[in-house]
Amino acid sequence: MKLSRNKIFFLGLFFSLFLSHTSSASDNKLKVVASIAPLADFARQVGGDKVDVILLLPPGASPHTYEPTPRTMQEISQAKIFIKIGAGLEFWADKLVAAAAKGVVAVDCSRGVALIHANDHEKHGAGNTDPHYWLDPLIAIGMVKKIEEAYAKADPADSSYFAQRASSYIAGLTALDKQIAGTVKTFRTREYVTFHPAWNYFSRRYGLTVAGVIEEGPGKEPTARHIDRILRELRRLKIRVVFAETQFSPRMAEAIAREAGGRVLMLDPIGGQKERASYIDMMRYNLALMKKAMG
Ligand SMILES: [Zn+2]
Repeated sequence: MKLSRNKIFFLGLFFSLFLSHTSSASDNKLKVVASIAPLADFARQVGGDKVDVILLLPPGASPHTYEPTPRTMQEISQAKIFIKIGAGLEFWADKLVAAAAKGVVAVDCSRGVALIHANDHEKHGAGNTDPHYWLDPLIAIGMVKKIEEAYAKADPADSSYFAQRASSYIAGLTALDKQIAGTVKTFRTREYVTFHPAWNYFSRRYGLTVAGVIEEGPGKEPTARHIDRILRELRRLKIRVVFAETQFSPRMAEAIAREAGGRVLMLDPIGGQKERASYIDMMRYNLALMKKAMG
């Protein structure tokens, strides 16, 4: 099984190298791959029609459990720039990039970010740090600046185009931050229970507290004792909403909601799907659900 998958990868690599040699002259857009949907959105916002952005993680998939396909490899091999979250999130892509792409520039958006240390319940992929920092819009501004910098280096002739687009998008992120801060201020409770530990940076920014996390580790079923603890937290907080997430099965959250006499709302920390395709739309979608639960 493993062996045959490797064979498929190398076949994919072979064809992708072949393709990149035959098609690279056909257009002069900067080829960019981005690991998750928020990064692909930032990459397009800054790059406009000077870049060709490919998203690696399919919408609806979880980066914590994703297994790449030969197509992933082909896409990476054609890229000039690889935009990533880092902090262990792309454990499934890093080896592929090293194998497939010669001369690709990796833009690790976690560079310079004050990362939160993940506790034992919150370890994700390979890292000991919590990788979900993109859910803080002010950190997102720094990510956009890193992307702009990388574009300007790769394509200096268009650097003022990138700078202009980055600054108008940053104005949008600044407005988003103000909107979230203003809405959270009106919440009657500042504590909530989430499905997986994605909301620590968001909570730190806006003065919220994650009182409990349903999933004990990526893909892990919570124990009966852990579920009891979650139910106690929900009762204490007088919250009748259990948050699930669109990248995971809602089955466990539904069982807990039944027990708590509440209902399930689906947060989305990644987006890239209908009605929350863009990062800003996704954040507004999450804010509206939190307001329903805590407002
Ligand atoms: Zn996550």
